[in-house]
Amino acid sequence: MTDWLIRNAQTVLTMDDAGAELSGVDIRVSDGVIAEIGTGLTSTGEVIDAASCVVTPGLVNTHHHLYQTLTRAVPGGQDALLFGWLQTLYPIWAKFGPEEMFISAQIGLAELAQSGCTLTSDHLYLYPNGARLDDTIAAAREVGLRFHPTRGSMSIGESDGGLPPDALVERESAILEDCIRVIDAFHDATEGAMVRVGVAPCSPFSVSRDLMREAALLARDKGVMLHTHLAENDEDVAYSQAHFGCRPGQYAEDLGWTGDDVWHAHCVKLDGAEIDLFARSRTGVAHCPCSNCRLGSGIAPVRAMRDAGVKVGLGVDGSASNDAGNLIGEARQALLLQRVTRGADAMSAREAMRIATRGGAEVLGRQDCGQIAVGKRADIAMWDVSGIESAGSWDPAALLLAGPTRVKHLLVEGRQIVRDGHVVTFDVSKAIRRQNALAARLA
Ligand SMILES: [Zn+2]
Repeated sequence: MTDWLIRNAQTVLTMDDAGAELSGVDIRVSDGVIAEIGTGLTSTGEVIDAASCVVTPGLVNTHHHLYQTLTRAVPGGQDALLFGWLQTLYPIWAKFGPEEMFISAQIGLAELAQSGCTLTSDHLYLYPNGARLDDTIAAAREVGLRFHPTRGSMSIGESDGGLPPDALVERESAILEDCIRVIDAFHDATEGAMVRVGVAPCSPFSVSRDLMREAALLARDKGVMLHTHLAENDEDVAYSQAHFGCRPGQYAEDLGWTGDDVWHAHCVKLDGAEIDLFARSRTGVAHCPCSNCRLGSGIAPVRAMRDAGVKVGLGVDGSASNDAGNLIGEARQALLLQRVTRGADAMSAREAMRIATRGGAEVLGRQDCGQIAVGKRADIAMWDVSGIESAGSWDPAALLLAGPTRVKHLLVEGRQIVRDGHVVTFDVSKAIRRQNALAARLA
């Protein structure tokens, strides 16, 4: 493994407990870990001159559906609300197979890497034509991002009153068996793990109450995390009240879906009592501002969540509802959106960057990531602030107000994933050609 000396960084936003910002320092990386931070350091490894760079921990993406990079900007789904949007896309997704899952994940992961992301979760909840979670894990190994794939699922098809077509749902016993298979095959609980698997029924409106309960028992038995969509919009809350006789937070609590090992995507419609429940139980939230705007779902009460002590991270969400996968762009959107309802002092650029890095790492249970400190994993983003976007900025470290939207260099576990703005771990041009050919075939 290559050792590195990141030399003379203009500014380092450490995201450590004290929120320290350092100027003109070096960072020495050895064996995938941050070994030393200071001035005048030496190393036998490769040197990166960071004099024009703001250096941050790698950004952490807490919610995605990588397979959707193959269905961006589908005409019938461009202007629909959540349920109509899903019904447009389900028949297209039903044609996917292993290759579609692999290529779309490669593209989605490379897009994340370019935007500074070093650790991402993924929520794959449909497995047509022999597709498996394994396909996306293979893609992540090649691209080189730290990966938390979650074994999603849908079990209530149209004929049972659910939303997805019957062809896309699975038997609940088969779902649980495959969860066990992928956890046993891929989950790594050790510090510095590159792959951690989670259990993730798609949403309360596409699986049964029994599966939600069984999934929670299984995850706790195996020591893995739980993830699903919750309280995404008004339709979602209305479904909960009509079918379960309670709000989404109550439903989650009743089925064992709160706790330090659980994180829910969206949570746009959480009320005050639900925010208190999440804070008390240490339940995490994946805030997906662009997707929430794109689908007209609303503005998640992130300021109230943070003030109450809820763990919040960011998610780009699937590329059929964003339709981009730029994580630093998502951080800027998060800060803008809180200001729409709460005023210009509702969220600072530095707080939004903290949510994007340390916040996401906490949501995913990664105490070893999300900050630049000795002993933490060497997941490091370097942002060149000598370009047009930063010219004239009085505070280049306020990256989200004025700054680049792509990294110059990116390290994950000490491996260089992006060099001079380009992903260098696999043949990106070839993957783009294949992705476009597959998209054309699906259309
Ligand atoms: Zn989602």
